[in-house]
Amino acid sequence: MSIVAIVGRPNVGKSTLFNRLIQRREAITDAVSGVTRDRHYGKSDWNGKEFSVIDTGGYVVGSDDVFEAEIDHQVELAIDEADVIVFMVDAECGITGMDEDVAKLLRKVKKPVILAVNKVDNPQREQDAYEFYNLGLSEYFTLSSTSGSGTGDLLDRIVELL
Ligand code: GDP
Ligand code: MG
Repeated sequence: MSIVAIVGRPNVGKSTLFNRLIQRREAITDAVSGVTRDRHYGKSDWNGKEFSVIDTGGYVVGSDDVFEAEIDHQVELAIDEADVIVFMVDAECGITGMDEDVAKLLRKVKKPVILAVNKVDNPQREQDAYEFYNLGLSEYFTLSSTSGSGTGDLLDRIVELL
């Protein structure tokens, strides 16, 4: 089955989207390698296509902190495993240094990467979201994981790429 990984720094809304995508409570926790933060797997389907979803911990590049290194490792695993990578950022915060570090790595990944600008809850945020073009990733969607707006278009594109 094809795998979709959701990556991005902490608090952008990855788990909120994940929970929305899997709907059914099929998430399982991966205790392998005793990682400090869990990876969650779930099953989803859209337009008749089934796929697995991985929700990852945050991603911090170039940190000496062991905890952050573990998270980093988990995301690298997700990148290896995934057929499509959803890179989530937060329109409320704008671009952070951490987003730029992740983007730099993802620009080198030879797999489809979709930039998902989350927390676009109102028209003003839709305007603010343009700045994320500066991350240099071609595919760009805006959404609100809490309300669900924009998730349909994102899913249409994800399953097209599977
Ligand atoms: P993660 O660390 O990337 O997994 O982020 P979470 O899914 O745990 O969400 C972090 C916080 O952002 C929570 O308080 C969510 O309720 C909030 N959040 C997630 N999606 C949205 C959204 O679309 N709009 C707003 N306003 N808040 C959101
Ligand atoms: Mg989370």
